Amino acid sequence: MGIKVAKFGGTSLAEAAQIRKVQAIVQSDAERRYVVPSAPGKRHAQDKKITDLLYLCHAHAQQAISFDQVFQIIADRYRQIVADLALKLDLSPHLMLVKERIAATAREGGGPDYAASRGEYLNGLIIAELLGYDFVDAADIIVFDAHGRFDSEATQALTSRRLAQHQRAVVPGFYGAKVDGSIKTFSRGGSDISGAIVARGVAAAVYENWTDVNGLLMADPRIVPDPLPMEVVTYRELRELAYMGATVLHDEAIFPVRKAGIPVNIRNTNEPAHPGTMIVRDADPVTHLGSITGIAGRKEFSVIAIEKAMMNAEVGFGRRLLGVLEDHGISYEHTPSGIDTMSVVVADSQIDGKLEKVLADIRVVCEPDTLEVYPHMALIATVGRGMAHTPGIAARVFAALAEARVNIRMIDQGSSEINIIVGVQNGDFDVAVRAIYAAFVKK
Ligand code: ASP
Repeated sequence: MGIKVAKFGGTSLAEAAQIRKVQAIVQSDAERRYVVPSAPGKRHAQDKKITDLLYLCHAHAQQAISFDQVFQIIADRYRQIVADLALKLDLSPHLMLVKERIAATAREGGGPDYAASRGEYLNGLIIAELLGYDFVDAADIIVFDAHGRFDSEATQALTSRRLAQHQRAVVPGFYGAKVDGSIKTFSRGGSDISGAIVARGVAAAVYENWTDVNGLLMADPRIVPDPLPMEVVTYRELRELAYMGATVLHDEAIFPVRKAGIPVNIRNTNEPAHPGTMIVRDADPVTHLGSITGIAGRKEFSVIAIEKAMMNAEVGFGRRLLGVLEDHGISYEHTPSGIDTMSVVVADSQIDGKLEKVLADIRVVCEPDTLEVYPHMALIATVGRGMAHTPGIAARVFAALAEARVNIRMIDQGSSEINIIVGVQNGDFDVAVRAIYAAFVKK
């Protein structure tokens, strides 16, 4: 098959029992040659993530308050893990150095990055020891420029060159270093990005992202009970779903692998036999024609609706209308239009405090016959590459909504045919999402 890069999230590494599962997963496939660990996460709902405790150490040190106690909790957790795994590794010198450096960084006025990154660093040492893999410090291969911006090309060159020298390696997630050698972290949850960078660097056949769920879900589980995971989703579909509010991988995390055309496989450490979700290139052949991939939506939109006789014959009408929005720095979502009507869908957060001024300007610039605003709208996107060239998909969406007695206020389908968007009242949102889901997914 080719090289696999396996990134493991915090819950997969929260304690020795979880780490044993990780070990079994890695050792069950000789292609899993590069492993990117997060820091130990929560063992139970009330637990603390190591990364949060490290940020706390830095915050205390910065205020010249002793962080001995917090650091002790961190040290104890790592020592416990090492003991439970019966490893020979002596973490003491590492822990001592980390503690000293956290204090020194704070004294010198440095940011929290060094402290925060040590969760992954220490965990990386442990996982490398357990697996018998080389340890490659992310600070040596992931580059940020002097302004702290990630340098993708320098990183790619360095990562591919350095990792080629290691048959098997553990690279801690979440951080790299600036050119002056100081540590810099990605945004929270950034080990996903590190995993993608390593995958691109070694030209992996697949980037496995191991977490604690069976993949990306077809709908929000707070709305649809027990939604199924998506089997296959393309990068483009994912972007549509993420934009509409689905919690999926960070755009930044997708970017390096998307660029290189490497598929991402989201897997569950607690259920390794489950195939999870495969995120594939947009160009890959469509399977499951006639099906949908996922549903996502957001509330709190307004529709500004304009009617004007003979609008269709008026050159530049749309530009003038959108120009008003541009003048007010408002970005819009959709512009459904008819012969004599044009509406603009905008997020409420965009027009807060500006609406009256915007309407006044539209009246002057567009001279509409009527101008109305419909507030409290929700948008729901039904996304699926399997919808293209398949008659009846929209009909199923609309029939489901009709049956659930949801009034559709707006319909929009992009020319790509991978997305049908309906606008409904905020109050109908949950019912509508459940109805669409039920229309496509048979229990
Ligand atoms: N440990 C870091 C965090 O908690 C990064 C990660 O887990 O991806 O944000």
